[in-house]
Amino acid sequence: MADQTDDQHQAVDAYARELTAFADALHVLHVDCGSPSYREIATAARAAGRVSLSSSAISEAISGKRLPSLDFTLELVRQLAKNDQGVLDQWRERWKRVKLHQRQVGAHRKRSGTRSKIGGAPAQLLPEGGQGVLSAAHLEAERILKNAQAQAESVIEKARIQADEMTASATQMLLDATERGTIHVVAQLKLRENCRIALVGPPGSGKGTQSPFLSKLLEVPVLHLGELFRDNIRGGTRLGHKARRHMERGELVPDEVTLGMLEARLQDRDTQHGFILDGIPRTLGQVEAVDKLLARTSEKIDAALNFEVGRDESFRRLVGRRICKNDSSHVAHIMYAAPQKDGICDICGGPLYLREDDSRNVIASRWDAWNVQSELVVKKYGSERRLVTISGTGTVSSVTERAISALNAYFG
Ligand SMILES: [Zn+2]
Repeated sequence: MADQTDDQHQAVDAYARELTAFADALHVLHVDCGSPSYREIATAARAAGRVSLSSSAISEAISGKRLPSLDFTLELVRQLAKNDQGVLDQWRERWKRVKLHQRQVGAHRKRSGTRSKIGGAPAQLLPEGGQGVLSAAHLEAERILKNAQAQAESVIEKARIQADEMTASATQMLLDATERGTIHVVAQLKLRENCRIALVGPPGSGKGTQSPFLSKLLEVPVLHLGELFRDNIRGGTRLGHKARRHMERGELVPDEVTLGMLEARLQDRDTQHGFILDGIPRTLGQVEAVDKLLARTSEKIDAALNFEVGRDESFRRLVGRRICKNDSSHVAHIMYAAPQKDGICDICGGPLYLREDDSRNVIASRWDAWNVQSELVVKKYGSERRLVTISGTGTVSSVTERAISALNAYFG
């Protein structure tokens, strides 16, 4: 019976210890790092290799349903404090105080000749004056626990409000941008009549993210190079076979094959009032070939839209990107759009994976290739006054909005 009580006390003790540690960690994060959102915490936890908690586990921890371990909180602090020595030291100081307190309580227990925990020791077993010390310790423990709970609760509440606000404002911004964009486009029919656009930003500049929004607002289809390949290969066309042979040998698909596919696609009705090219042209030769192709029907690329994004930002975006195995248009991002469940697509429940193209080395070589070619492409469009350059940084909706107003100014 006594053992069972001891076990219970030990469990309570462990609970209080973990709660204090976690609340302390949250407090440090809150005060020293600004209050973290669920997403930041989830990202930090995932980024820390030895913490194996999923984002739902972290949500549970934050909501108080489950307590994280000391390792977890330490790692959390380390990650969110970005290894800032000052913050870590401060955290260790707090942790030492908790430890010291525990040692004091332990010493009292030893002296009192019982393993029974504070508050649980029968009065007759306590040495003289012991009970007073123990109840003081008990009160102190309770105070720490209460403090910890209050701190944790206020941080949780703040994080919750912040997350809700972020979601609401993102949704509103997107709606606003869409509405404004539509009004602009409707008001400027000229834009819709001359809407043959090529996207020419670097890898990770958001071409693929922006193209569906621009497509909707400008009411023209996106002609994506990867999709042209896929459709032709699946459809078993002559050009599809050719492209496949080159791809299987690990060679670049020759321009004549790529341009042939584009030419065939341009026969489709939906491209008659314009289109957005994504993935082509990438070289000076392709710029000229596309112009030549369009010249046959007295058309041309009216504007090359260039999203400017730094190399670091591009890496951050691409390395965190996860694609759904079921549908490549289902895209998540471990930092900017973390899925509800680790590695699981929010839309269809399929498995998420890191595309080979998005691993560090491949991104680096894609950047190198882009750097060499892009200067010529951008220069060519610039010299012919067909270049529209905008910053590709910021939220998806703010970039869309920027693109639409830049295009309106350009065509206006
Ligand atoms: Zn999916």
